Amino acid sequence: MKIIRSTKCSTKFATEKKKQELHTILQEYGKVVNCFVDYFWDKDFKKTQLLKPIVDIPETWLSARLRKVAAREALDMISASKERWKNQPKKLVKPTHKCKRMYVSCTIADLKDNKKAKEFDAWLHLASIGNKITMDIPIRFHKHYNKLCIKGKRLNSYIITENYVQFVFETETGTKKEGKKCIGIDTGINALASLSTGQQLGLDIKQGIERVKRCKQGSKGKNRARRALKQRIDEVAKEVIKTNPDLIVVEGLKNLGKNSKLKRRLSKNIRRSIGSWNWKYWLGRLEMQSEWNRVSFRTVSPYNTSITCPNCGLVDKKNRDGEVFHCQSCDHTDNADLNASRNILSRFLTGPYGASYKPINI
Ligand SMILES: [Zn+2]
Repeated sequence: MKIIRSTKCSTKFATEKKKQELHTILQEYGKVVNCFVDYFWDKDFKKTQLLKPIVDIPETWLSARLRKVAAREALDMISASKERWKNQPKKLVKPTHKCKRMYVSCTIADLKDNKKAKEFDAWLHLASIGNKITMDIPIRFHKHYNKLCIKGKRLNSYIITENYVQFVFETETGTKKEGKKCIGIDTGINALASLSTGQQLGLDIKQGIERVKRCKQGSKGKNRARRALKQRIDEVAKEVIKTNPDLIVVEGLKNLGKNSKLKRRLSKNIRRSIGSWNWKYWLGRLEMQSEWNRVSFRTVSPYNTSITCPNCGLVDKKNRDGEVFHCQSCDHTDNADLNASRNILSRFLTGPYGASYKPINI
């Protein structure tokens, strides 16, 4: 399985003059993209039609090569915007490039090793920009860059902004694991992860979240608390992988399709427990760790998972009372979060996606 990862390296080693020049290029580039957006907006245009007369439309000193890059980006922006609002055409507006970033490939940029200076590791060489500009941006690699370098292959595409250059790597992780250990995970405030195996991880998450809440908005303390919380969430995601699952099932909103009313309500429910931002971050980290470790990652609809009895199937709000699950019909009793995690797993295994999975260890 191939996965794509990216990392950012700062442009802070560049001289003021270079930074200024980069700023000028980005401004001009954005202007040209917006000019193309204006031109393409009400036409049905394809990338294969980007011939010279079209590429020459904007009045600019950018090279033909970079103008073509800009034209392609304009088409991408338009189709992304149309795709996003295809069900609500009234909200569709013409996209605008903010002159903040430029997405280029090997036709414009090239990374060259730097063997002379000690302060940085490589030059990002930019050419064919136009106006006879060429530029070398000094780059220093960091731990994350080096890690990606070892695990994967760097691709020849770059996102350039005034403050950083983003590099993209493709990593081959091998085929997905064949084993059949499936675990369901419930996300909550008492334990960040309650596993259907009976384990609970991240029991200290509540403290971390409350610490962030207590700190004053915009204060240094708040940033520190938020960083610590993120780090803790990262750790818990790794701890989950250490239990050696082959497949992870979580509650998500992906499978709900167009039922946006239900989606909103459910989303409010789960997010309320740990906060919407934390919830997204947590699922993102868990999915990323799964990818790295060749673990399959699936989501099921979060509908009633916390109030369903796994024993007799009774769905009743009264089944859950805070941290305790107690079935009103058959008396089955359990930790409420662990109970939810088992429902999540069984929803996957019995649902349309899980038919082929035969777990040996629940
Ligand atoms: Zn029951």
